[in-house]
Amino acid sequence: VIDQRPEGITAGCMQVEALLEGFALDRSVLEDVMLRLRREMEKGLHVHTNMEASVKMLPTYVRSTPDGSEVGDFLALDLGGTNIRVMVVKTGTDEVGTWKVETKVQVYSIPKDTMTGTAEMLFGFVAECIANFLEKHNMKERKLPLGFTFSFPVKHQDLDKGILMKWTKGFKASGAEGNDIVNLLREAIKKRRDIEMDIVAMVNDTVATMVSCYYEDHNCEIGLIVGTGCNTCYMEEMRNVEMVEGDEGRMCINTEWGAFGDTGELEDLWLEYDRRVDEMSLNPGKQKFEKSISGKYMGELVRLLMLKMVKQGLLFWGKASDALTTWEYFDTRHISLIESDGPELQQTSMVLKNMGMEPTEADCELTWRACNAVSTRASLLCAAGVAAVVTKIRENRGLECLSITVGVDGSLYKQLPHFKQRLRVAVSELAPECKVTFLQSEEGSGRGAALISAVACKMACRTTC
Ligand code: BGC
Ligand code: MG
Repeated sequence: VIDQRPEGITAGCMQVEALLEGFALDRSVLEDVMLRLRREMEKGLHVHTNMEASVKMLPTYVRSTPDGSEVGDFLALDLGGTNIRVMVVKTGTDEVGTWKVETKVQVYSIPKDTMTGTAEMLFGFVAECIANFLEKHNMKERKLPLGFTFSFPVKHQDLDKGILMKWTKGFKASGAEGNDIVNLLREAIKKRRDIEMDIVAMVNDTVATMVSCYYEDHNCEIGLIVGTGCNTCYMEEMRNVEMVEGDEGRMCINTEWGAFGDTGELEDLWLEYDRRVDEMSLNPGKQKFEKSISGKYMGELVRLLMLKMVKQGLLFWGKASDALTTWEYFDTRHISLIESDGPELQQTSMVLKNMGMEPTEADCELTWRACNAVSTRASLLCAAGVAAVVTKIRENRGLECLSITVGVDGSLYKQLPHFKQRLRVAVSELAPECKVTFLQSEEGSGRGAALISAVACKMACRTTC
């Protein structure tokens, strides 16, 4: 694996090396992670073992080869990170297939207490955002079809019907788990009396991302999100999807691999920092794989590692500032600044000064190495995941060699300086029989949801018109 260490960074003492060594994952460990993930994926696909699988492999009811879609305006709603995005997407068709352009977008930040209050509060707020958007764009009178990107584990009964299994990331609104999310949104909209919506599809962000990239690249059969959370979906053979009737064609499976490790399959990998991050989270014991990779937790992992170094007298003369001892103070933006630094480590020094420290050159170097250790491990674990999925697809299709595209979105993937490259290199090493292309999606969550809705509307028309 490549080392992007700026020139001049030297090896530290044995104590430092021992701490950083904990984050190192060699090829054999990564191959083992692939095997373990593969085992959980198989368990998730089979009816008899699905219950005990950590990786739930949720059917999405998004199927292969949609021929044709409705042409027109769709409203798309995206809920799942720290913001709600509402947009209008125009879809149409040309000789290549269906295209989509978003015409108007609006971002609303969700108050923290709305994420952790009641479902009624949360969906009331979502409905308010929609109403505000329609008002602003003079569209309140139109009853548009709505595609809803909801980025949590949902057990679907159909494209527009599904139960929230559990909240993840920063959400914990009561009264939503175990309930049909489309229903909750419909009720919240109805209660307002000022707008009307026709919710035609609910999709995971991975699925929306995959579909949004499909138009550009018909090889795109995987969706990957590395943002606040981390997850993947891919096109699975219907004959392997035991949870849904039928053997023909393919269906998109939302793996929910963030929960990999939740039944103890990765216990040997976790370090004290991982355990601490897990304990302090809104969902202890859950989403263990996600917590070692995604943006919501990465800053904390680095901060805890730095605190450990301080405690051992290796960093800042053994004294931590208030900021460094503050929960969630350090985040992915800091890591991005530090990892993109030049040989003088000026940005690193600035970040540390802003945190109330007076760093020496050695402090800056160690801080850089702490960030590097945590973010490299994240990219490698993610790579092991992608390698396992592409290998599964290759075997499904009985191919010696598979050429496939992964549609990707997420703040961490886009912003962390070396993540993309490390991911790509590691996937090619771990799955050498697969030629994997990563395609970055823009506004994919919304555009994908609109496109899936457009296909759903066409199908509905076919059965009722
Ligand atoms: C959720 C997934 C989602 C991912 C990325 C995870 O916490 O469980 O459904 O795809 O975050 O947003
Ligand atoms: Mg998102």
